[in-house]
Amino acid sequence: MKKLILSLGVMLSAGVCGASVTVSSPDGKLKVVTDVAGGKPVYSVSYNGNTMLENSPLGLRSDVGDFSTGMSIVDSKTSKVSKSFDQDKIKKSHIDYEANQLVVAMKNAAGQEIAVEWQVADNDATFRYVIPRQGETRSMVVESEASGFRFPQETTVFLTPQSEAMIGWKRTKPSYEEFYITDAPMDTKSKFGKGFTFPGLFRVGDKGWVLLSETDVDGYYCASHLSDYNDGVYTIAYAMPEENNGNGTASPGIALPRATPWRTITVADNLAPIVETTMPWNLVEPRYKTSRPGRPGRGTWSWIVWQDNSMNMADQKTFIDLAKDLGYENILIDAGWDQNIGYDKMPELLGYARSKGVRPILWYSSSGPWNDIIQSPINKMDRPIVRKNEMKWLRDNGVECIKVDFFGGDKQETMRLYEDILSDAADYGIDVIFHGCTLPRGWERMYPNHVGSEAVFASENLIFEQIFCDMEAFHATLHPFIRNSVALMEYGGTIFNNRMSRDNNSGNTRRTSDAFQLATAILFQNPVQNFGLTPNNLTETPEDAISFMKNVPTTWDDTKLIEGYPGRYVVLARRHADKWYIAGVNALKEPLKLKLNISSLGLKSDAGMIYADDKEKGVKAKELKIKKQDSVPVEVRPDSGFVLVIE
Ligand code: CA
Repeated sequence: MKKLILSLGVMLSAGVCGASVTVSSPDGKLKVVTDVAGGKPVYSVSYNGNTMLENSPLGLRSDVGDFSTGMSIVDSKTSKVSKSFDQDKIKKSHIDYEANQLVVAMKNAAGQEIAVEWQVADNDATFRYVIPRQGETRSMVVESEASGFRFPQETTVFLTPQSEAMIGWKRTKPSYEEFYITDAPMDTKSKFGKGFTFPGLFRVGDKGWVLLSETDVDGYYCASHLSDYNDGVYTIAYAMPEENNGNGTASPGIALPRATPWRTITVADNLAPIVETTMPWNLVEPRYKTSRPGRPGRGTWSWIVWQDNSMNMADQKTFIDLAKDLGYENILIDAGWDQNIGYDKMPELLGYARSKGVRPILWYSSSGPWNDIIQSPINKMDRPIVRKNEMKWLRDNGVECIKVDFFGGDKQETMRLYEDILSDAADYGIDVIFHGCTLPRGWERMYPNHVGSEAVFASENLIFEQIFCDMEAFHATLHPFIRNSVALMEYGGTIFNNRMSRDNNSGNTRRTSDAFQLATAILFQNPVQNFGLTPNNLTETPEDAISFMKNVPTTWDDTKLIEGYPGRYVVLARRHADKWYIAGVNALKEPLKLKLNISSLGLKSDAGMIYADDKEKGVKAKELKIKKQDSVPVEVRPDSGFVLVIE
């Protein structure tokens, strides 16, 4: 940052150029043009000669000056970015990143300076603002942004709304748990009139796809979302003043010099680069070192199917035994353990887990004075003195992972809380999963002990309302293209009970097959997977399904989209060491007869094991001979799925 600002200073003295400036991707297909029209900074994006974003606004308004009108370009400078890094916890383990960088220096009518910085890779155009000191002024409140996205008229959208603040369960929203609109016209109003959350997927007619998101968001800024479609544009919107029960500002306060978060625009003529993008991590660096890497693993948790009544010593021991029987690493002990088991009895339970070789994950509320949550422990994570006391207790009792729930939204104040919890936890050797939370924006890389975030209609909804069971396949075909493309996703799925209850004879009815449930264990990517398995599954669920779940990995070296369309079906391949797991699910009303082209996986073997439907819902594993790698026949019934495993 410091270096960039210094070089910006040099550039500004180099003189006025005025004309539009263009930066292209290394392969030349993706082009970004930055310009000023009538004093307003704008940019456009094209791919393969097709316009993907028409002249779209840039700029911001602050208490120090207005950088959205009266602007002129004073200079620009290009350079190359090239880096290689290993990254755990995401869709890929090694990343080579090449991009062209363009810094466009601008000034407003008052002569105040700002720069728009672009990095353009083969399928990703990303920008941020770099704001130098303004004379003696070094503190700034960014009131709003002009930054926007003007798609061509034929564009349709795949978006999920930003929730109204302080509504829902115990006034905990927004928490990125809303229904999607799919292939909808751009002028479709958002459900709450508060715009849409990141990431957002856009289909530009037959020309291709655009995925919008942001990364590098931390306690130095707020998280952003998209406004409703207005005057042909979606603009960057900040947190709502009512979030967090009104505590904290909606507009971020920054010390200068500072750069804003990066806004990422992933562009392609097909969906594979959308699913496979690593842009959220290419642009960030680890913020601190930890004594060990964030730990992946599989776990059981009683709460998801057995619910609140299972928060007792006996049931928790049962689920520790279940984890051991499955060969899983973790037990997630959810809300209420402090009241129903008690701090004094916890060493017994934690010791029991240890004796079985199973690591405990303990649940906490994040709050704090921002919602009405009574689920406990509560008021242990919101302030540093109590938080560090609690973390010392956790460390002394051998707990190395926590799940913190029910955050207050997207304000800078809440971003600080996320960062403070992660940072303190790192000091105590503790990994962190967030629930009831915002979308993580580059956090897998920025915070080495961040191992999960919900920010999705997760498995709990299958228990709460039948409509989620009815829509389970539909939602599963959205996540690989949208939510799970830009961040890990702690979903807590794979439920084999036919009814969503402990007795498996009451509650909501599962519509999807066992093979579908196996496929989601691969489709939904998170390094820590807490599966919805229950003890009865060991005897009632087909043996092949259980043996698959015993051996399923949660970390991946590579991810490739084989085929699919959001909302209809998806087939995705993930590689763990030498094994490819090709998983598919079908949300259509009719059976899918696929001829999969898996030739891009570089397979040497001509045989795999396919886990697919047996009887009505059961799973059977069968050997599958692969005659032609570009045409592997697979049939998938509606609400079903499959996993093909090839070494
Ligand atoms: Ca939730």
